[in-house]
Amino acid sequence: MSRVYNFSAGPAVMPEEVLEEAAAEMLDYQGTGMSVMEMSHRSAAYQKIIDEAEADLRDLMNIPDNYKVLFIQGGGHVQFAMVPMNLMKNGTADYIITGQWAKKAWQEAQKYGKANAIASSQDQTFSYIPDVSDLPVDPDADYVYICMNNTIYGTVFHELPDTKGKDLVADISSCFLSEPLDVSKFGILWGGVQKNVGPAGLAIAIVREDLIREDIDEKVPTMLKYSTYANSGSLYNTPPTYNIYMCGKVFKWLKKQGGLEEMKKRNEEKAALLYDFLDSSRLFHGTARKCDRSLMNVPFVTDSDELNALFVKEATEAGLLNLKGHRSVGGMRASIYNAMPVEGVRALVDFMKDFEEKHS
Ligand SMILES: *Cc1c(COP(=O)(O)O)cnc(C)c1O
Repeated sequence: MSRVYNFSAGPAVMPEEVLEEAAAEMLDYQGTGMSVMEMSHRSAAYQKIIDEAEADLRDLMNIPDNYKVLFIQGGGHVQFAMVPMNLMKNGTADYIITGQWAKKAWQEAQKYGKANAIASSQDQTFSYIPDVSDLPVDPDADYVYICMNNTIYGTVFHELPDTKGKDLVADISSCFLSEPLDVSKFGILWGGVQKNVGPAGLAIAIVREDLIREDIDEKVPTMLKYSTYANSGSLYNTPPTYNIYMCGKVFKWLKKQGGLEEMKKRNEEKAALLYDFLDSSRLFHGTARKCDRSLMNVPFVTDSDELNALFVKEATEAGLLNLKGHRSVGGMRASIYNAMPVEGVRALVDFMKDFEEKHS
């Protein structure tokens, strides 16, 4: 067996210890004689798995009691729809467009009501976070929506927008559990788990209780109402049982590492290795504005498309995988999530230094 350093933006690297544990439990989960995959979601053993996953997440993120933790099938795109379907009371919402994922959420919201784009950084290929200190927030807006960490463009909100009293909804898919976050500043935090937590196909929504309403349009499908999940402990139907089990293992792993303060420290160290090199390089440069840089996703380029392609090819041969940038930006992108060890980032920087020696 040989493992590579996987810099994929998602589905992405998972902690090796977690994968090993899951492998060891594959045929017989804790004396049950079956895999978690084969287990009833109504069994006592499974109830314990989902209860512990929720409790560990609450612990890690310090989630206040008046927030529900919901495990929802369908990943990110389903949340683009669920947010407006469940939250648009006045039929109006404000969106801050900082990349493709925010834009898609905004476009989806337009199906349900008036969705205003109150700020955008599209004019410079989303390479920065716009000024959000004095936004033209619509007095009727039911919420203000952001994508906290922009996976494709490598930017992150270091300061939250002034929503002028409106509830803030944030997509935290690609910065989920990467550092501490004050949950009480948000109405809803949701994340697809395949970036920084677990296997694809599941989103976790952390929703303030008063935003979970029953009096929404009765045509909204049962499985697209937050209340369905809140009232059933995310067990209304068969949930993605194995994904939730894997996420639970990652939560325990994070606690063992020292929690989110420790992850923040490690993530800052890893990102600094890469950014410091980029800032001193003659060949490579980062594409995101310095003050808005993400700890998780680091896009970079050389000035030549041929060299970019050669870099990706040779890096792959050296066991550094999935460094090709998103098709909308080109160049390269290294995603350095929680589970990417510092050794992986060092190996990447060493490889970049060698490449630079040869080609500049
Ligand atoms: C990947 C990603 C999405 C899309 O998630 P899907 O599960 O593929 O629908 C949404 N938001 C962000 C920030 C992402 O990184």
